[in-house]
Amino acid sequence: MKPKFPFRNLVPTFFAGLLDDPILLIRSRPDGRHLLFDCGQVHHLAKRTFTHLDAIFISHAHMDHWMGIDSVIRQLIASERTVNIFGPPGLSDRMEHKLSGYDWNLVEDYWCSFHVHEIHQEKIESSIFPGPQGFRRQPGEVLSRNNLNIHQTPYLQVQAETCDHQIASLIFRINESPAYSIDRQKLESLGLVPGPWLGELKKRYLAGKGDSKPLEVLSLQAGGIRPVWIENVAELLEQLIVSRPQRSIGYISDVNFSQENRETILRFMAGVDLLFCECTFLTADKNRARDSDHLCCEDVNHLLKELRPAYFLPMHLSRSYSRRSSELYHELKPPPETRILRIPLQITPRPLLAEEITWQLSL
Ligand SMILES: [Zn+2]
Repeated sequence: MKPKFPFRNLVPTFFAGLLDDPILLIRSRPDGRHLLFDCGQVHHLAKRTFTHLDAIFISHAHMDHWMGIDSVIRQLIASERTVNIFGPPGLSDRMEHKLSGYDWNLVEDYWCSFHVHEIHQEKIESSIFPGPQGFRRQPGEVLSRNNLNIHQTPYLQVQAETCDHQIASLIFRINESPAYSIDRQKLESLGLVPGPWLGELKKRYLAGKGDSKPLEVLSLQAGGIRPVWIENVAELLEQLIVSRPQRSIGYISDVNFSQENRETILRFMAGVDLLFCECTFLTADKNRARDSDHLCCEDVNHLLKELRPAYFLPMHLSRSYSRRSSELYHELKPPPETRILRIPLQITPRPLLAEEITWQLSL
């Protein structure tokens, strides 16, 4: 049975197999915009997927997380848009090197631009690569950073923390905007009638401005429906607004199992509903995990025991286990409330062999 995710606005799709380079796509349902997390082999994604792409989040610039950016540039080039790319310090240099690997003598005014934002602990430093100018790098703004947020829309918020993977590696948390509903029974018991005023009330709730000024509402009275001014809007909000739990998704790839990373992950990912996490090695190969600064099953079990997400999708299993992938699912011991999501071993089609090609040139 297909799991029913608890999200209202977020539609996550993991576009890679267990052994493939990770790519997570999150669609924001209300505005149809797409966010991409990591950028390995993306050439199998439909062009349409890129048409709605707003932002790309790169955990670190190891090849299996970053090499697909060339395909992304190729797909977006004529889209006349600006796409934001968020990643660890040094990403702007890497983007510059990528772009300078091509000739751009045939540029057009309608070409897309990229804004690369390097996430430091205390600041976000940006560079701009404008397509119409042949992607020549220009300095962008430097913003001081006093919270974990790096990207926000009316429907979601993306946060980032820095972990260690011998190099800086970002982990991401995607939060849905706070959800709420109007208590219809309460509305009726107060003798109030729904109308455009409810929209204004919701607006004030979201802006945290309950008590700013009186609000005109519709009230059911002996003579019919009448407009009435409510002075204490904060009290009205308290009576009518039912807030729902805020849902979130966590994405972890790649990190080591140091004490510091553990503490960061447990603090940052607390309460996520769906967790994507690398599980590169089986527990018997813990030494390989330690040597390459990755996680093994035992490490992931430890994190799951603490975090207890409703759903967990293990990813990025080492290709050395291509015939032993079922052992991963035997070793994972999630708490009872966590459901493990299984994905195919590979979704990237294997290359064709020469003898499989049906057309031939014969002389
Ligand atoms: Zn890596």
